[in-house]
Amino acid sequence: MPLRLFNTMSAQVEEFRPLRGTEVRMYACGPTVYDYGHIGNFRTFVAVDLLRRFLRQSGYTIHHVMNITDVDDKIIRNSARDGVTVNQYTAKYEKAFLEDAAMIAIEQPTLVRATDHIPEMAEFVARLVEKGMAYRTEDGSYYFRIAKFPRYGKLSKKDFSSMLDGARVDVDEYEKDSARDFALWKAPKPGEASWDTPVGPGRPGWHLECSVMSMEQLGESFDLHAGGEDLIFPHHENEIAQSESLTGKPFAHFWFHARFLLVEDEKMSKSLGNFFTLRDLVLKGYKPSSIRYLLASVPYRHQLNFTFHGLQQAAVSVDRLRNFRLRLSAGNFADGCNEQIEKLARETIERMRSALEDDLNTAQAQAAIFEMVRQANTAFDSGAVKRGDVPALLDALAKFDEIFAVLQDDDLPKMKQVLEWARSEGGEKDISQELLDALQSAELSDAEVETKIREMKAARAARDFNKSDAIRAYLFERGILVEITKDGIRWRRK
Ligand code: AMP
Ligand code: ZN
Repeated sequence: MPLRLFNTMSAQVEEFRPLRGTEVRMYACGPTVYDYGHIGNFRTFVAVDLLRRFLRQSGYTIHHVMNITDVDDKIIRNSARDGVTVNQYTAKYEKAFLEDAAMIAIEQPTLVRATDHIPEMAEFVARLVEKGMAYRTEDGSYYFRIAKFPRYGKLSKKDFSSMLDGARVDVDEYEKDSARDFALWKAPKPGEASWDTPVGPGRPGWHLECSVMSMEQLGESFDLHAGGEDLIFPHHENEIAQSESLTGKPFAHFWFHARFLLVEDEKMSKSLGNFFTLRDLVLKGYKPSSIRYLLASVPYRHQLNFTFHGLQQAAVSVDRLRNFRLRLSAGNFADGCNEQIEKLARETIERMRSALEDDLNTAQAQAAIFEMVRQANTAFDSGAVKRGDVPALLDALAKFDEIFAVLQDDDLPKMKQVLEWARSEGGEKDISQELLDALQSAELSDAEVETKIREMKAARAARDFNKSDAIRAYLFERGILVEITKDGIRWRRK
């Protein structure tokens, strides 16, 4: 079965086929780096990461590009407030975003930054003016003329036939139901950052950034464009209008949108006090792997209601999977094979695949692996799992983890980094006792490490490499790096 995905453009689930053989060219709208990313943002980024990983598992090569919006209304306002340049202001949050994404095992796409593409954006504006699709206003800004693009509204399924020709809006985000000529290029207001270009001084509008950079990287027509559902209108509608009226070709073929996340049944907002960054959660003592697991657990088109109870359950789920793997790696098994177990592993792999092929049904894929773990654990207890079955079970776990990426137990070093960051930023008051306890209980003394290293040496001498690997993983998770060299085993703290 091929992958079937919901395409916002056709408003139905369709078979996904790339335009060129086995290469998938995809673009995801990235963060606006004016603050730390919140769990809503990461809900969408995790959804895109799951898609990317599943496409790769399905045999595609992926060209995945993501923009960093490093100039927009908010950034300009905040950098002026703080008396720093736009670049100085955004560098801090871009770095934080990349650290956070890595913390929850999001693979890094090719990154493109708006401020590195200003000349191309100015040129794009000039070409739209030449084609009669854009016009300049008195202050030196440029707007896209929606009336010239009759297909406007085809993505968001809005009917704009009665809109006013020439009504304009100059902010990047605006009311869901108003179709207005939108700013392609904004003339500088006093004191604002701007660039000198052939279309005059100013800066690009947000929508333009994504059109220019996606087509530069991926070509005029590419396979898939992704973002959160709030971007359908106006952002993606505007990207389509600009791009297609310039090239005369279809822009992106698939439109992939993740549903917005709620927190405890409410829209997340600072005023409600239910607004969380990833770092907030880690400072409360939660593990990055639990956060990733939870964000991945609800299929991307369903509403994910984030709760702390859900996060605790996610931690239990991840622990069960890790313990199961440890049991497989370190257990003693009788020789032989049990066909039933191999069949179980094979069927689990098939079930996970068909769940993900069904519009990325991550919940069902997770349910399939847990069913395997449940049955295999029962079989363990009765001695029905044989040495020959272990690779098949490990293979099913590995296939699961190629997508979900929670088995590697490196939470503690990551949590430690967040702790250090909070201390360096004067955020002591946000550090919870739970985080301190988690980190302290995991700290091994030198003597304890030496004992483990001796066990590891004994395991290697007995050629029990599974056991040796399990010990090494145990130490790694506690911040100890073990190196095996021809002169013996060495270790150091990370
Ligand atoms: P921004 O940094 O605001 O440009 O947003 C980055 C990404 O996060 C976009 O794809 C948004 O659609 C997405 N996003 C923002 N808030 C949420 C939310 N509550 N749930 C899911 N995705 C969100
Ligand atoms: Zn975008």
